[in-house]
Amino acid sequence: MDPQVKEDIIASYEQDEKTKDLGSQDARMEKDNDLWTYDNRLYVPDGRELRQRLLTEFHDTPMHGHLGVDKTLAAMEQLFYWPNMVDDVRLYIKTCEQCQRNKPSNLKKAGLLKPLPVPDNPFESVSLDFITLLPETQRGHGALLVVVDRLSRLMTLIPTTTDVTAAEAAALFYKNIFVHFGMPSFVESERMGTPRRKPRKNRRR
Ligand SMILES: [Zn+2]
Repeated sequence: MDPQVKEDIIASYEQDEKTKDLGSQDARMEKDNDLWTYDNRLYVPDGRELRQRLLTEFHDTPMHGHLGVDKTLAAMEQLFYWPNMVDDVRLYIKTCEQCQRNKPSNLKKAGLLKPLPVPDNPFESVSLDFITLLPETQRGHGALLVVVDRLSRLMTLIPTTTDVTAAEAAALFYKNIFVHFGMPSFVESERMGTPRRKPRKNRRR
């Protein structure tokens, strides 16, 4: 995992009082290799405008084309969590200038005349997989996170470690795919939903 991304997130914990509160009160918050996760999603702290950056990427990029609250939220919730995310998404979209300009009433009429559905965009739908237990490189990478764009079949290989956690994989995905292509509206993965769990000594109950 890129130390810069990780440091950015970790530094934000200090500005976010809720990180501490949730960590001690909610058993679903777990610290996983210095990163907080919530139900195996990467917890996004309130600081360094991380949340704002995510909202902009998930809603404004051409890939997403200013989708509504439900779809924007559904895409974000696959990898990320923060308290009351739905409220932030609602407010963000409600105050989005472009969405205000393109009211649905205008779009519906245009839609009826369209002979063909809009073609899918690259990186709108991707699959994630891992190749693990490879010979370790000098940098300590022994696994690959494999991201395949289902439209172009373009494959992106991201070096990682065999014991990569869900939170680390989410951060890798953020840095290598999301910042370049925006967030896919569909992510298929068998392992991301049920990541390998590291044994924890001090699990709260
Ligand atoms: Zn919008």
